[in-house]
Amino acid sequence: PTALLWFRNDLRLDDHPALRLALERGFDVLCVYVHAPHEEGAWAPGAASNAWRARSLDALDAALQARGARLHCVHGDSVDALQRIAHEADARAVFWTRRYEPAIEARDAHVKRQLRDAGLLAQSVNGALLHEPWDVATKSGDPYRVFGAYWKTAQAQRRPWRAWSAPARIPAAAPGAQACRDLGIGAPASLGLAPRVRWDAGFWDTSEPGEAGALRALRRFIDTALAGYAEGRDAPACNGTSGLSAHLHFGEIAVGRVVSEVEASAAPREQVDAFVRQLGWREFAHHLLHHYPHTAEHNLDGRFDAFEWRTSDEAELDAWRRGRTGIPIIDAGMRELWHSGRMHNRVRMLVASLLTKHMRVHWSVGARWFWDTLVDADLANNALGWQWVAGTGADAAPYFRVFNPVLQARRFDPDGAYVRRWLPELAPLPDKAVFEPWTAPDLVRRIAPDYPRRPIVDLARGRDEALAAYQALHRT
Ligand code: FAD
Repeated sequence: PTALLWFRNDLRLDDHPALRLALERGFDVLCVYVHAPHEEGAWAPGAASNAWRARSLDALDAALQARGARLHCVHGDSVDALQRIAHEADARAVFWTRRYEPAIEARDAHVKRQLRDAGLLAQSVNGALLHEPWDVATKSGDPYRVFGAYWKTAQAQRRPWRAWSAPARIPAAAPGAQACRDLGIGAPASLGLAPRVRWDAGFWDTSEPGEAGALRALRRFIDTALAGYAEGRDAPACNGTSGLSAHLHFGEIAVGRVVSEVEASAAPREQVDAFVRQLGWREFAHHLLHHYPHTAEHNLDGRFDAFEWRTSDEAELDAWRRGRTGIPIIDAGMRELWHSGRMHNRVRMLVASLLTKHMRVHWSVGARWFWDTLVDADLANNALGWQWVAGTGADAAPYFRVFNPVLQARRFDPDGAYVRRWLPELAPLPDKAVFEPWTAPDLVRRIAPDYPRRPIVDLARGRDEALAAYQALHRT
């Protein structure tokens, strides 16, 4: 018998629970990818995410072909596409791994009902998280809102990881050539996800989408950075983190495998724990988004609904987006994002803080920009990150703690290596001026005539105004 294997954000073959289930039940598999951005509600994938996905789908198709199968890609409505392909191939079942974005959860429930009504076996499994969002709960059965308590319970519930390798040959089914034409089935390239103008060229200097790239990133991290992770993770100039976020978002590697490999390494225990704890934040983000689906765009902490955000000034916003604020650590981060589709976590916190505190722009405006430009754009992690910095989320940094981007840059990029890498026009400046170019206006005018003369916000005034707005909120 034949089963459809519906690929989504699980673009790998090893440790793939839905593939494993289908094979263990004796099915030949027909691998399908349905491109249906209109089913993702307000959060259709952004441009950088699509650029990554295009390459990841190619890599998956190549891996399938090496095993005697292939990836059948189609545009359209998921229910309709799956039903038509199942009918054409005389399939009896559809298997997939779960996603947790609110619009997708609703869509998937609908797909499951429709497939079952049509007489098919429809089954989803967890392939993305260590813990299903509904499996971790407080003693009274409620979802958690505080990370520490969440993670303690989650860790206590952890079960041993069982690795699984995809077989060298996958028993595959395929619709005939005519059926493929009728159904609009093609190779990944037929989806047109790769940018036509190659604005993404810089992405691939540091990233290799696909399962093999994910494994290489993990190996590099274990060999070179894990043993110093707890300190190295905060230095944006160093390659001190895993670089796994996009690989994890697209499911190119199983999170259980990442945990089991770092735990089996020779790195000191506290370093391994510090890293696994970050994976815990990813788990927590998915827990929150599942239980509080409105938090993709609205404050988790409802008291902030009355906060006086400023109506955004387009020119200022544009300066933030393009890395032209005149504050070097911020501009370096925004240019890293634009060029590579990535941004170091510490710098994400700083650019988000400048936008939501000094500029007092609602965090969702920044979250949208990240959504379109990050290769690891992930609804759960992005919403959590922005709400955490803005102070409106679970377990958030208190709103009144306002990062000073100059002091932060001095602390975490002490020799200015990160700033100089992304703002080469400022590279010749002496160290003090590279963090505060407005203190050396004549020099800056000479060496970097196009760099903004002054920061777009006065840092002291922006901070005071943010705090005043916060105080006003507390008086209401
Ligand atoms: P590592 O330090 O190696 O961490 C390992 C993994 O743990 C990451 O790959 C990621 O899956 C997870 N992780 C680490 N930190 C966090 C965190 N704070 N929250 C949730 N998961 C975490 N991460 C995304 O994957 N997608 C996003 O869209 C995203 N948006 C963010 C927005 C803001 C404003 C902030 C402050 C953070 C955001 N993050 C997001 C979290 C974090 O910045 C990235 O996961 C991290 O920088 C990725 O680099 P890495 O894989 O080398 O991380």
